[in-house]
Amino acid sequence: MKVPFIDLVVQYKDLKTEILASLESVMGRAAFILGDEVTTFEEGFASYCDVGNCIGVASGTDALVLAIKACGFGPGDEIITVANTFIATTMAISAAGATPVLVDCRDDCFTMDVDALSCAVTSKTRAIMPVHLYGQTALMDPILEIAQSHDLTVIEDAAQAHGACYQGARCGSLGNLACFSFYPGKNLGAYGDGGAVVTDDRELADRVRMIRNYGQEPKNHHQILGVNSRLDTLQAAVLNIKLRKLDQWNHQRLLHADAYRKGLAGLPVQLPVARAGNSHVYHLFVIRTPKRRELSVYLDQHGISCGMHYPIPIHLQPAYQHLGYEKGSFPVSEALAEQCLSLPMYPELQSDQIEFVCAKVREFFD
Ligand SMILES: *Cc1c(COP(=O)(O)O)cnc(C)c1O
Repeated sequence: MKVPFIDLVVQYKDLKTEILASLESVMGRAAFILGDEVTTFEEGFASYCDVGNCIGVASGTDALVLAIKACGFGPGDEIITVANTFIATTMAISAAGATPVLVDCRDDCFTMDVDALSCAVTSKTRAIMPVHLYGQTALMDPILEIAQSHDLTVIEDAAQAHGACYQGARCGSLGNLACFSFYPGKNLGAYGDGGAVVTDDRELADRVRMIRNYGQEPKNHHQILGVNSRLDTLQAAVLNIKLRKLDQWNHQRLLHADAYRKGLAGLPVQLPVARAGNSHVYHLFVIRTPKRRELSVYLDQHGISCGMHYPIPIHLQPAYQHLGYEKGSFPVSEALAEQCLSLPMYPELQSDQIEFVCAKVREFFD
C-alpha cells in the first residue's frame, strides 16, 4: 500500500465536470481579471467567515502584506508573531517593511505562547499576528486582551485554518483582519496561488481593495501606492465550487484525526492537542517524538510519505539571522522542529490507509 502525504488528484476527479464547465465559462467570456466569479467568491467567503468584507488577492503571503500595509504599518514598526510558523508569516511582515518580533509557542497545542507575547510588547509594537497553526486557532481571548490594553491591531494568519472556530466564532472574524491562503494544499485550495483578506472594518477593506489594484478607485484615479495582487478569476471559479464542500471536507479531516488518535493510542508519541471549545480543522496531523528522524525513514520505506512543519524555526533560518536571535531563544519551537512529524492528511484519505499508517508506527515502536 502507498499512502501519499496529500493527494489532490482524487479530489479533482470528483469535481472534474463542474470545474471544467466553470473554467470554460470564464474563458468563454475572457473574464480573466476581476470577473464576476471573484465577486461571488468574495461574498461567499466573507459570509462563510462571518465577516462583512473579503478581498481576493494573489496569494496568502500577499494577503498578509496587504493587510499590514492597509493598516499603515511599515518601517520602524514591530509586529509580534511566532517562531514556529511557515516562513511566509514573517516574510510578509518584512516585505511590508516592518520588523517581525518572535515569541515561542505553547508546549501543548503549539500556537502562540501568550505569556511570552505580553513580555514582547514594546513601544514600537503595532500589531500581533497569531497563527492558527495546523488548523487550530490560537488562544484568542488573552491575545485580544493584550492587544486591547496596548492598542494593537490583531491580524490573524489563518492560512491553515479555513473553517476553524474559537469558542463558536469563525476564524477570520476573531481579529481586526484575517489572511487566508488558497495554495492548492490548504483546506480550501485553488489550482494555483490565491489568497484573501477578510475583515469587518469597512475602511480597512476598502484600503486592501485599492492596494491590490494599483491603489485605484475609481478607474484611473490612483489614491494610494498599490500593487498588482488580484485573485485570478479562474482561481475564483475553482474556489466557488470548492467552498461548497469545505465543511464536509473539514469533517472528513476530523474523522481521520479521530481514527489516528485511536490507532496511535498508547504509543510513545505526543498526539495533537485540540483545546476545549475549539473546532480544529486538521490542516495537518502533527505528532511529536524524539525518534522523528528514524520514524519518518521507517514510514517512508513502507510507502508512507510524511511532512515536517517546520524543521527549522524562523529565528534559525539564514534569512533571519539579522534579527539577532540565538539558538536556545525559543526552546519549544526548537524542540518541535526536531520532533514533529506530519502524518498523511487530506479529506479523501481512506480508513484502511490510516490503519496501515498506525500499524506501521506501532511496528516501529515495537
Ligand atoms: C501557506 C501559508 C502562508 C502563505 O500562503 P501562500 O498562499 O503560500 O503565499 C502563510 N502563512 C501560513 C501559516 C501558511 O501555512
